Amino acid sequence: MNLDIAPNIDDILKKGADFKGIDRDEALLLMGLDLHARETYALMQTANRMSRDQFKGKAENHFHIGVNVAPCPLNCEFCSLAERAGIFTECVEFSEEKILAWARVAESQQADALNIMTTGNFSFQRVLEIGRLLKNAVSTPLVANTRDITHKEGELLLDAGYVGAYHSVRLGEGRDTPLNVDKRIHSIQVFRDVGLQWMNCVEPVGPEHSHEEIVDLMLLARRYGATYSGVMRRINFPGSPMEKHGMITELEMAKMVAVSRLVMGDVPGAHCTHEPHAASLLAGANLFFPEVGSSPRDGLSDTEKGRGKGIEYCRTLQKEMNWNPDPPSNCFTGPRSDSPPAGHAEFERN
Ligand code: SF4
Repeated sequence: MNLDIAPNIDDILKKGADFKGIDRDEALLLMGLDLHARETYALMQTANRMSRDQFKGKAENHFHIGVNVAPCPLNCEFCSLAERAGIFTECVEFSEEKILAWARVAESQQADALNIMTTGNFSFQRVLEIGRLLKNAVSTPLVANTRDITHKEGELLLDAGYVGAYHSVRLGEGRDTPLNVDKRIHSIQVFRDVGLQWMNCVEPVGPEHSHEEIVDLMLLARRYGATYSGVMRRINFPGSPMEKHGMITELEMAKMVAVSRLVMGDVPGAHCTHEPHAASLLAGANLFFPEVGSSPRDGLSDTEKGRGKGIEYCRTLQKEMNWNPDPPSNCFTGPRSDSPPAGHAEFERN
């Protein structure tokens, strides 16, 4: 039996393993590998080794708190909070007491960050107030996950206590959502300009997305120096208009997590995947998102009672895969990339 891997793939993996990043054509070759090919396992082994070395065996848990439920008029096709999905008919904000209680539990369970998520139509003033509330109550770093913002609003987020912002150009942006790709990228530039760390995930991946559009978002993350940028698959909530496409499996996601790990090179402080699962912990991922409150993947208003996984579950999974969630985070030690973004040619290509 021939145990060698194809020389052209071997060359790409060696380049990736040197933390230099790989280019678009190389990433596309890796994306095209058969899921059960020897080369695919060599790819995942390479990504696994890179992350265990670069992140020193540290696993991260960034605790998602969805602070409000609303029938969101922006109607992204993949989101259970969309008005058109018909699941949530009233605007409800979780109380400050509830948000504080979640934050304190997360802090006591050694969460590495709190991701404060809102729907697209939520009050920006409330995002600031919640930031100030949490900043005075817990020491866990705060990350905002809200709408597109201006420079002035970026400075206000910093003043309110946020150190970073989760923001992605979603797959199908402008097609499955009403939002504009250029505006999304402008917000990412705003984060860099004002000194907020940019957190990203290539999401929400479904079987209908081309390798090209997936890889282009991986390259965008490296170009703009994301603090982390792994892969999240789309979860089809009951009745989702995306059900006709199906969903990718966790193993397919793990392979993409590995490709994005090689693309990111020495840029990130961690490498994420969602929802929490074991396979990607062998393919370069070390960051999970435990979840409470609202979630665009859930039909329940509090995902803690639904799909959401808690911190203890995530920590156990990480330890079982020989990752250690106890040391301090690698994500909040300064800017991840000094190189200025050079436009977004990967989108002009399509
Ligand atoms: S993804 Fe965000 S902006 Fe889009 S419908 Fe859901 S809550 Fe609204």
